[in-house]
Amino acid sequence: MDGYQNELQTAIAAVRQAARVTQAVQKQITEDVLEKQDRSPVTIADYASQAVICHALKEALPDDPIVGEEDAAELRGVDNAGFVNRILEELAAIDVDTTADEVCSWIDLGNGTGGSRFWTLDPIDGTKGFLRGQQYAISLALIVDGELTVAVLGCPNLPLDPDDETSPGTLFFAVRGKGAFVFSVEDSDVSIAEAVRVHTGTAVDWLDARLCESVESGHSSHSRSAQIAESLGITKEPIRLDSQAKYAVVARGQADIYLRLPTGKAYQEKIWDHAGGVLVVQEAGGTVSDINGKPLDFTQGHELTQNRGVVVSNGPLHEAVVKAVQDAGVA
Ligand code: AMP
Ligand code: MG
Repeated sequence: MDGYQNELQTAIAAVRQAARVTQAVQKQITEDVLEKQDRSPVTIADYASQAVICHALKEALPDDPIVGEEDAAELRGVDNAGFVNRILEELAAIDVDTTADEVCSWIDLGNGTGGSRFWTLDPIDGTKGFLRGQQYAISLALIVDGELTVAVLGCPNLPLDPDDETSPGTLFFAVRGKGAFVFSVEDSDVSIAEAVRVHTGTAVDWLDARLCESVESGHSSHSRSAQIAESLGITKEPIRLDSQAKYAVVARGQADIYLRLPTGKAYQEKIWDHAGGVLVVQEAGGTVSDINGKPLDFTQGHELTQNRGVVVSNGPLHEAVVKAVQDAGVA
């Protein structure tokens, strides 16, 4: 990982620290919280995650701007003191002792606008999955001159051993040109050198191919993906999961295709919803483009304004999948 050792180590440690908070908060979600449609657990975890990651980046790499999903404007409101205290309690539980002002200033480090070198962060991607007790991701990536360069993707609920639900959650990482790797999101004593390299699946036959997509049909059209799967002769049931964990399952060959098919004209994909996952898949041997086969363009600010939707594949299947998406009239 020559050249980006410090960035990678800092990003991995930061995401692991954030995962400790998000895991603790997710465990507190009760039926009652769900019934009341109370979003406060995910909001607390989201802010706490962004705070610890931005703080860690600032300490180690003080000149790097951060484009994060959240900012502290709302938190600073007079009515929110109780809410801020809940964030402080969760941070104290992982031995981060801070104050209301300081935590807001850490969160606001994520207000960067970009530039020739910047980080992008989604402190909790897949908030709906988080609230359901299912998949979510903590996604952090370094973009240098428009190129994804370092990616760290924490998936605390995606088991390290896919056949053992009780195994610890995963942390995937990648450096451009150096491959993609996975190890436990929890075990900070395991060195980078001990992480296991991941590769996309080898399916070249549609009967072997598995597709994955959002749980939320509002984020990606289920009916269109079913139509495309049928046109290609894919017979396996699609896997539905929230967040950039979809990139992780393609990167390690549990799925071969991830479709994100626009549901309306207006929505523009956000860079933090993809940056980390994209580099992990590319370095695992896969291919990522938009629905027209164009590479994702991370030089346009917060949004992927030059792209529509996203198509991810193991690599060999890519061209045919993009063609099927086009033939289905997705635009
Ligand atoms: P997923 O978990 O893959 O369904 O995606 C979660 C992400 O979808 C969130 O982080 C949102 O930023 C994003 N999102 C929100 N609305 C839309 C939409 N209409 N189309 C696509 N993505 C969306
Ligand atoms: Mg997100």
